[in-house]
Amino acid sequence: MQIPAPFDYARATTVADALALLERHGPESRVVAGGHSLLPMMKLRLARPEWLIDINDLFELDFILRDGNQLRVGAMTRHTTLLESAEIAGLFPIFTDAERVIADPVVRNRGTIGGSLCQGDPAEDLSTVCDVLRGEAVIRGPGGERILAMNEFHKGPYETAVGQNELLCEIRFPIRPRSGSAYEKVDRRVGDWAIVAAGAAVSLAEDGTIDDVAIGLTAVGVEGTISPAEAVMRGEKPREELFVEAGRLAALASNPVADQRGPIEYKRHLSDELTRRVLRSACARAAASPTSVSPTSLSPTPQEG
Ligand SMILES: Cc1cc2nc3c(=O)[nH]c(=O)nc-3n(C[C@H](O)[C@H](O)[C@H](O)COP(=O)(O)OP(=O)(O)OC[C@H]3O[C@@H](n4cnc5c(N)ncnc54)[C@H](O)[C@@H]3O)c2cc1C
Repeated sequence: MQIPAPFDYARATTVADALALLERHGPESRVVAGGHSLLPMMKLRLARPEWLIDINDLFELDFILRDGNQLRVGAMTRHTTLLESAEIAGLFPIFTDAERVIADPVVRNRGTIGGSLCQGDPAEDLSTVCDVLRGEAVIRGPGGERILAMNEFHKGPYETAVGQNELLCEIRFPIRPRSGSAYEKVDRRVGDWAIVAAGAAVSLAEDGTIDDVAIGLTAVGVEGTISPAEAVMRGEKPREELFVEAGRLAALASNPVADQRGPIEYKRHLSDELTRRVLRSACARAAASPTSVSPTSLSPTPQEG
């Protein structure tokens, strides 16, 4: 199939308008953001919405905003904007690492962080990024606003907590001193989906021990972050033996399937190796990062993109 089933189309002007349109057109209506996941699914007839509510005019959801000790990222922020943001690169280099290897410029110019998270593809990169950064999803609907931790947001492959009549509006990330993060992916060719990818975020205490750590894997059947691997690192000084042990435990926690991207053992090996690499890199970045976070109140960064 190359042509979607017939559908009607409405262009929302505000978040309130988008929510009203979703309410008016009922369960067979879907929002479209960048369209890079939804439109291929419609062409394959895997999705057959009767109404498409276009949210590309919701510029109010396209922002990167420093708000005290949080960074707030609007759901309509495009991959390219995330890739090119100096503030993101400084605070959360894991985003920059991941965005460099997501698809190609054509997809990155349209695809959004909100669409990526709501699509919930198990091989999608930004879910792991948001998980390890302990992001919170801000969702609005007819009943008002609710804020969910990422482990409550994800409900499984292609399923999230966002209701049909709701919108993901932003994701909030805590900013912590002495923190670093990293992402590495192995794919079959440039811009492809991950065979396996790993992400890690580390915060160091004043004495240089690991205060907090989060480790995630992409495309190997892992939901949320990997507690056993994190537990061996907390309270310890970063060192190679720890990275090796955490890599081993992450591979054990992985649950890959054999497919055209590779056999199970290869994916387990990648889970181990990539976990070690991102931990090394995240710890080095944490050691080189600022030792305090000045709580600027609501200082907007220049709008990008
Ligand atoms: C060739 C190709 C290669 C790709 N490679 C990668 C890759 O390597 N890694 C990767 O991570 N991704 C990859 N992608 C996916 C890409 O990142 C998409 O941009 C992303 O999956 C979806 O974002 P979107 O804005 O296009 O969402 P859309 O396709 O518009 O929407 C996706 C789903 O989310 C819903 N939705 C969108 N926004 C909201 C919102 N604010 N609130 C509630 N629901 C919403 C829609 O209703 C739909 O169900 C690739 C895509 C293509 C076409």
